[in-house]
Parts: sequence; C-alpha cells; structure tokens
Amino acid sequence: MNHPAAKLKTLDEALAQLLGCAEPLAAAETVSTFDADHRVLARDAVSGLQVPPLDNSAMDGYALRCAEVPVAGAVLPVSQRIPAGSTGTALAAGTAARIFTGAPVPEGADAVVMQEDCELLDDGRIRVRSVPTPGQSIRRAGEDVALGATVLAQGTRLTPAALGMAASIGLAELTVARRPRVALFSTGDELVMPGEVPPAQMRPGAIYNSNRFFLRALLQRMGCEVSDLGIVPDRLDATVQALRSAAQGHDLVLTSGGVSVGEEDHVKPAVQALGQLELWQIAIKPGKPFAYGSIPGGDGAACHFIGLPGNPVSSLVTFLMLVRPFLLQLQGAAHTAPAVVHLPAAFEWKRADRRREFLRARRNAEGALELFPNQSSGVLTSVAWSDGLVDTPAGQPIARGDTVRFLPFEDLWG
Ligand code: AMP
Ligand code: MG
Repeated sequence: MNHPAAKLKTLDEALAQLLGCAEPLAAAETVSTFDADHRVLARDAVSGLQVPPLDNSAMDGYALRCAEVPVAGAVLPVSQRIPAGSTGTALAAGTAARIFTGAPVPEGADAVVMQEDCELLDDGRIRVRSVPTPGQSIRRAGEDVALGATVLAQGTRLTPAALGMAASIGLAELTVARRPRVALFSTGDELVMPGEVPPAQMRPGAIYNSNRFFLRALLQRMGCEVSDLGIVPDRLDATVQALRSAAQGHDLVLTSGGVSVGEEDHVKPAVQALGQLELWQIAIKPGKPFAYGSIPGGDGAACHFIGLPGNPVSSLVTFLMLVRPFLLQLQGAAHTAPAVVHLPAAFEWKRADRRREFLRARRNAEGALELFPNQSSGVLTSVAWSDGLVDTPAGQPIARGDTVRFLPFEDLWG
C-alpha cells in the first residue's frame, strides 16, 4: 500500500532528526598509529617539529653555489660526501659536495644539480652541464609541516595518508574515539544461514540471510565493535528478549527486517514494550520503512535502536544514508555527509518516483553512468554490479547526457 506523500519524511528531515539524537561518545582511547585506520581522531595532532627538519636535497647530485657556476660547463672539485642520515660541513669556496636525496644541504650551498646534469671527470672533479638557479632541487625546512601546526584536526576520519602524516611528526599513538559497540541481529523465520543448509536442500520459502553479511562488514568498516546475535525468530517474546539483552553494554542495537506493518513484524511492538520507538516512513526508494528508538541499557544509559527494512537493497541503502552518518557522529567525525561526484547519465530514467530515489549504477570507460536494468529493492545483484548510487530527486526524470549526483561506494563504505 502506498502511503500519502504528505506523511512521508524527507531523507534530510530524517537524517537531521537522527543526528540530533547521536550524542558523540564521550570516551576516547589511545591506539597505535598502525591500528588507527578508519578511526576518528579525538584530539588534534599537533607537530612538535618542522618537517623536513633541515633544508635537504631532492636529488642525488651535487650541492654547490650558483655564483660559482655562471656558465654551463664550469668545473668544480668535490670537497665532501653527504649521504642521507649524515650532516656535512660548511661548503668550501669553489667546490661542490656530493649529496644524496634527503641529505641536509651544507651551509653555503644554494642549489643542488642532479647527477644526470653533471659529468664526473677522471680527476674526480665534476663538470656542471647546466646553469643552476638558487634553491634548485632543495626541499626547504618546514615546507611540509611548520612547528606547532595542527596536522590532523580532531574529528578527522583517519586514512592511510593521515597515518603517514601522523608518523611524519613522530606520533606512534593516536587518541581516537572509542569504537561504538553495536549489537546486530536479523529477523525472519525464512532466513537460513549459508553453510547450514546446502542450496539444493533449502526448504520451500527459505532464503539465505544476506543482510547479516553486509551489515556486519559495513559496521566493521565504520569502526564498530560488533556483537552479532544472529537470527531472531518472528515471535514477539523472542524479539523482546533479544532486544533486552542486546541493549546491555551496547551503544546501538541494529536490526534488519520486521519493521513493516504486517502482523509478522514484531520488532516495532517489542521495542515499544521496552523503550521508545518511532516508525518513520521516509520518502526514499528503496528503503521507505525505518525505525529509530531507544531501549534502556543496564547501566542506566539508553541504548540507541535502529531497525532497517528487510529487503536487502533497502537495508543497505538506508544503512549508507542514515546509519553511516549516525555512526560517524557517535565517533565525533567532523564530516558525516557522503562524497558526491557529478557525472553524465548514459541512461534514461523516465519513471521518476514521487520519492527521492537511489539508483544502482556504475561508471563506464567514458566516465558516464550505466544503470543496472533491475532496480527492485530485493535484487542484491543491482548493488554488487554497481559502483555507487545515483541520487535522483523526487519526481525528476533523467535524460541521457544529464548531469546527475553520484555517490561512489568506495567513499560510502571505504
Ligand atoms: P521484512 O522487512 O521482514 O518484511 O522483510 C522484507 C523482505 O526482505 C522479505 O522478502 C524478507 O524475506 C527479506 N529479508 C528480510 N531479512 C533478510 C535478510 N537478513 N537477508 C535477506 N533477505 C531478507
Ligand atoms: Mg520479516
């Protein structure tokens, strides 16, 4: 049944309301920089030194004074050798210093000429084939990082590049938000775990539990500590019991399925029996039903509850659009919005829906977007085939060649 459009919440309204409930977790922890990828920085990383610490050579070559090479072909004796990791002495007048990449430039030298532009003569002197300019092939002290600079700000979600930056200023450990503790369970009596029953022996009406696999992986990629509670049967008592124990010691209970309005959907009354629940109808496709609530935890604190729809694509899309920013905000991330790129459509979309739609698409060799032919919310192949979502405004058809908003999966679940 279609609900009247007026009753639906827009995604932006739903997201604002959800983020309004996502009080960042107070606790932080210190972890090895090696282990901090994907975590959210809880304190600024401030540099206690300048990087590089000294002017140093960008090349293997010869450090010299430009004034002493006024014309191409000038010949200079080599007075010292400075490999990376050592420091030389002041450059003697009228000489060059053999120098290697990363080695400090000796006092008095104002340029480095790469060895390919120098000819080593039989007597050990060099002929400089080009006229150097001051500063050539010298990396300046502090050109990367100034002393006292904030290299990574609190709220940064750490990436491999960020870990390298932290290491470059000497940080072996980083203070990050603690991992959100998330209890995950799937509802549905039709669900069977892969590995338990081989495909040929599946009973009629049974399907494999796929949501559990992508939801667990998505949670882990979001930095969460996941307690996977498996499949809960479609019974009110079992659902109440599962929710009650899941709320203990967790920040969030995340479920999939059972949040529609059918009498087999027990998640809604179960959460209502224990705490508070709001059932939202969100004007997005796929992913209309979504439940947010809270359940008292053991320690007096309330545990968040989020109920995702059961249809796999709806479940995945609502996770990416709502749960992902929620989890980022719990960790104090400064940016929770997905990355958007604008790309041309290599498809036509005439059947614009009244709801904002997230179409599964992938980039072709020309950088234009191809649409997966079956956009049904039950067809998980549409997601596996695609490399992102086209964010289509409500009621707006798309013509071939139109520029559309595309949300790449590598950013959404990276
Ligand atoms: P529900 O929201 O429980 O009414 O489920 C909607 C649809 O999603 C039904 O076709 C379910 O069989 C399917 N579904 C629910 N949970 C899962 C799951 N964990 N894995 C795969 N399909 C599911
Ligand atoms: Mg169900």
